[in-house]
Amino acid sequence: MKKVVILACERIRNQNLCVACNKCFVAANKLEGEFARHKDEVAILGIMNCGGCPGNLVVPSLVLLSMQLASFNEKIDAVHIGTCIMRFCPNKDNIIKIIKEKAGVEVIEGTHTYGKGTIF
Ligand code: SF4
Ligand code: SF4
Repeated sequence: MKKVVILACERIRNQNLCVACNKCFVAANKLEGEFARHKDEVAILGIMNCGGCPGNLVVPSLVLLSMQLASFNEKIDAVHIGTCIMRFCPNKDNIIKIIKEKAGVEVIEGTHTYGKGTIF
C-alpha cells in the first residue's frame, strides 16, 4: 500500500470548489487518475493546503507534517500535487520545483482527472 499526502490549492479549498475534496478521495479509492499507478491500494494520510499565494509556506508545512506523522510512526511514500494546483495555480511550476528539491520522496503531478469537457 502506498501512503500519500495531497497538496491542495488553499483558495480552491477555502471556497469549497471541490466540496470536501470528494474528487480526490473518490479517485484514490477507485485508483483512478494519477492514483492508478499505485496499483493495489493507496492511503491518503493528509490533504494539506499550499498556505496561500504564492505558496511560500509549502516547505515548512511539509516539515511539520513529516514531524507529526513520525510521532505516529508513519511516513509517506509520495506527495501528490492536487489537480486544483495543476490546472489553476499560476505559481505551480515554482511550487513543484521546490517540493521536488526538498521532499525526498516521489512527487506526482496530479490527482483526479475528473472534470467537465466544456463549461456550458
Ligand atoms: S483537486 Fe483534490 S485536493 Fe484539490 S481541491 Fe479538488 S479534491 Fe481537493
Ligand atoms: S499559490 Fe497557487 S495553489 Fe496556492 S492558493 Fe495560490 S493559486 Fe492556489
